[in-house]
Amino acid sequence: MRQTRKTTRTARATATKKRPSQSTRTAARPRARRPAKTPFKKKELEKFRILLGLERDRLKVELQEVEERAARALEIEAAGELSGYDDHPADVASETFEREKDIAIGENISALLAKVQNALTKIDKGTYGVCDICRRPIKRARLNAIPFATLCIECQGRVEAR
Ligand SMILES: [Zn+2]
Repeated sequence: MRQTRKTTRTARATATKKRPSQSTRTAARPRARRPAKTPFKKKELEKFRILLGLERDRLKVELQEVEERAARALEIEAAGELSGYDDHPADVASETFEREKDIAIGENISALLAKVQNALTKIDKGTYGVCDICRRPIKRARLNAIPFATLCIECQGRVEAR
């Protein structure tokens, strides 16, 4: 449970980092520009690949747990309706709230999972550690802290300031 809450915070923090308008604009750039190559050696890339792989597996497990919990809640709710349990509006309201919270948590995990997957794809393409906007290398310390970061700290700051 603690673990889940922690992830939610992280996911929420990262969710604001990249806005749709930004990625659209990046994607619309002319293709003539050659993608910058990863600044990392093969050995380092493998280290990041392992880290990201572990993170992906962890997130998948977490997502499954949330989905199972939501499914159970629905079952309980359906059973409750049959037995007249919904005569207690407060209980129903709090269960609805719990389920909505789970949906939000699930969405956050999914978003994070997509970022991790994207980083793994960048490793395969040989562009891992290159900023998506300015094409300069992302600092190693930043990637050590956030292995799925796709923007350098400067571009991240500009995106968030908008
Ligand atoms: Zn940048």
